Amino acid sequence: MTVTIIGAGLGGLVLARVLHLHGIPVTVHEAEASPAARHQGGMLDIHPWNGRPALEAAGLTEGFRELVLPGRESSRVVDRTGTVLLDQPDDGTGVRPEVQRGELRQLLLDSLPPGTVQWGHKVTAVRALGDGGHEVSLADGTTFGTSLLVGADGAWSRVRPLLSGATPEYVGVSVVETFLFDGDTRHPAAAKAVGAGALYALSPGQGIVAHRESGGTLHAYTHLFKPQDWLDGADAATVTARVAGEFGGWAPELTALITGSDTPPVLRRLCTLPIGHRWDRVPGVTLLGDAAHLMPPNGEGANLAMLDGAELGRAIAAHPGDVETALASYEQAMFARAEAEGADDIYPVMFGADSPRGMVALLAG
Ligand SMILES: Cc1cc2nc3c(=O)[nH]c(=O)nc-3n(C[C@H](O)[C@H](O)[C@H](O)COP(=O)(O)OP(=O)(O)OC[C@H]3O[C@@H](n4cnc5c(N)ncnc54)[C@H](O)[C@@H]3O)c2cc1C
Repeated sequence: MTVTIIGAGLGGLVLARVLHLHGIPVTVHEAEASPAARHQGGMLDIHPWNGRPALEAAGLTEGFRELVLPGRESSRVVDRTGTVLLDQPDDGTGVRPEVQRGELRQLLLDSLPPGTVQWGHKVTAVRALGDGGHEVSLADGTTFGTSLLVGADGAWSRVRPLLSGATPEYVGVSVVETFLFDGDTRHPAAAKAVGAGALYALSPGQGIVAHRESGGTLHAYTHLFKPQDWLDGADAATVTARVAGEFGGWAPELTALITGSDTPPVLRRLCTLPIGHRWDRVPGVTLLGDAAHLMPPNGEGANLAMLDGAELGRAIAAHPGDVETALASYEQAMFARAEAEGADDIYPVMFGADSPRGMVALLAG
């Protein structure tokens, strides 16, 4: 049996690695042309209850430790004037270590035999063959069959329709992503505001969350509650101007995180699948990570995707010759785990009527 994984995100790669450790052949088909095709996003704190056991199952704990950026567990909450309401330094205990997502992905890629990931393989269609097998079609016109298909292809999964009619829905929040490079030298006021780790500059209905990444890069996610078509088709300069315009009266060292960006702003509309999303068993196919349980960014998504990958890999290895039992046991545990984590919506705390005090209470408590 060869396992076919669609998507080389963190979830798909942990699955591939765990299968590899158990000697089970696996191929990952990834739409992007190469590992460097796109910036992989920012910092992830890797949780002891999901991300870390997943990396342990992948035999990568040591490699992961080497990627941890010291001091990044500090958190700061400020109001719109930049007044610091809470400043928690990194206590050095390493409970929630922060790593760069791109470096973690590269660690996983380097742990796989060459050729495991097939880059530039964008899946355009999947179809059941009726015997538990599936046919996969790629954008270049190639088709191939597989006896076990795993959709690790994120929010807009092409595999999901084989299992479920659910589609992601907009949650009313748009996020604009910006990067300021070499912050301490080139953007000192913004760098000072961000501090050593994470900054939460919040008010009711809007705010800026920023992290200090390696090399002094300041990476900001500006959150706004807006209609889904807000700024549709707008060019970069217009997006920057309109988003900054929403922050009139905010401290300049905070708005500099928007206006000082060294990269064009990237506008993301946050969507989710329903909490408790699940499906009846369908032979020969399953999902993991965002494809299965897309939730608002609550700090769990990538961690959960990795744990899904590890647990699915272990289940397949534990039931040689009985893949349906493996998938059923994986799915039941995954559904429960995702439902519990998906209910943890941090946005009412971050952007509710008493923001930023809610966030201060959460972090201080
Ligand atoms: C703004 C923001 C901040 C976040 N912050 C955090 C955080 O701090 N901590 C955390 O744990 N989570 C965070 N998340 C959530 C996290 O990013 C996701 O939950 C996580 O990336 C899911 O991993 P995945 O492997 O399931 O999917 P993805 O990371 O989405 O990977 C899917 C892969 O599949 C590929 N693919 C897609 N379609 C196809 C196709 N048709 N054919 C072939 N390949 C395809 C994609 O190119 C991609 O490489 C955040 C999310 C957002 C939006």
